[in-house]
Amino acid sequence: MSDRQEGKKYEVVIIGAGPAGLAAAATAARYGVPVCLVESSHQVGGRYFKYAKRTFRSEQLLNLMLREVSINRSSELLCGASAIWIERQTDGSFKILLKTRFGLTAVEAHTVIIAVGAYERHLPFPGWTSRCVLSMGAAQMLLRSDCLNSIKRAVLSGTGPLLWKVASEMCDNGIKVMVVSFASLSHCLKQFQALATCPRELIEAIACLLSIVRHSARVLFRHAVVFVNAKNDVEVFVAPVDEVGAPNISESISHRCDLVAIGHGRK
Ligand SMILES: Cc1cc2nc3c(=O)[nH]c(=O)nc-3n(C[C@H](O)[C@H](O)[C@H](O)COP(=O)(O)OP(=O)(O)OC[C@H]3O[C@@H](n4cnc5c(N)ncnc54)[C@H](O)[C@@H]3O)c2cc1C
Repeated sequence: MSDRQEGKKYEVVIIGAGPAGLAAAATAARYGVPVCLVESSHQVGGRYFKYAKRTFRSEQLLNLMLREVSINRSSELLCGASAIWIERQTDGSFKILLKTRFGLTAVEAHTVIIAVGAYERHLPFPGWTSRCVLSMGAAQMLLRSDCLNSIKRAVLSGTGPLLWKVASEMCDNGIKVMVVSFASLSHCLKQFQALATCPRELIEAIACLLSIVRHSARVLFRHAVVFVNAKNDVEVFVAPVDEVGAPNISESISHRCDLVAIGHGRK
């Protein structure tokens, strides 16, 4: 691999131009360190700009960071370039192989910062590939982009705080949230405990809870979606699970809805 591409040399290469990569690049630029910011997509901003609707505040923030990066004239932004390989060279520096639409190219750096974001974790069940089943992040993205306007009823299931947030956003947008099922009660309690030190997030979490309660969504702990039958109408089966997550299928209850959103955190 090492003798394939001769790379342009930088002090720092940052992989990923989401908020984290941009913040790293802006900080480096402030200290006069030349960086190469590599982004696989054709725009910077990462997950902040995955929504169809852009918010003025996030756009302003990212523009501010970009301006800081561009002040350092020896810095470079490579959009449409995916880092696919990193290797350490004999002098201790790194070579990063990039895939672009023109083919492979390489850059070299003394330091590499990896800021490629996170992906959602998916736990499969029968019917999980049906078109009515979305990951929690995708459901949130479509909701905020006004793409779920035809959805009347939803069932949400999984673990993690995003469930509270998406459930409340759905309620506030007129979707009837039939069930919000959490696989673990202790996990939820730990998350709320952790919020005790973050007043802003705690207030947001309480607002989500109030919205869910106000809209009479049914919240179940130690339950999970175990089966989705989407042949005609969508029928989703929610069953109790034990402490290791094994479902008791015989006690499952079915619900009719238009959308099932599943979220098990990120990886
Ligand atoms: C499903 C989901 C929902 C979320 N909802 C919220 C929310 O409601 N509110 C909130 O504040 N935060 C939310 N977050 C968290 C939010 O996305 C992060 O706080 C923020 O976007 C993280 O910034 P980042 O720069 O680390 O990653 P990202 O924003 O994901 O940016 C990573 C960038 O790296 C690029 N990249 C990835 N691999 C490569 C590669 N090999 N080569 C080159 N470039 C690459 C990607 O194209 C992307 O632009 C959510 C995250 C997820 C996964």
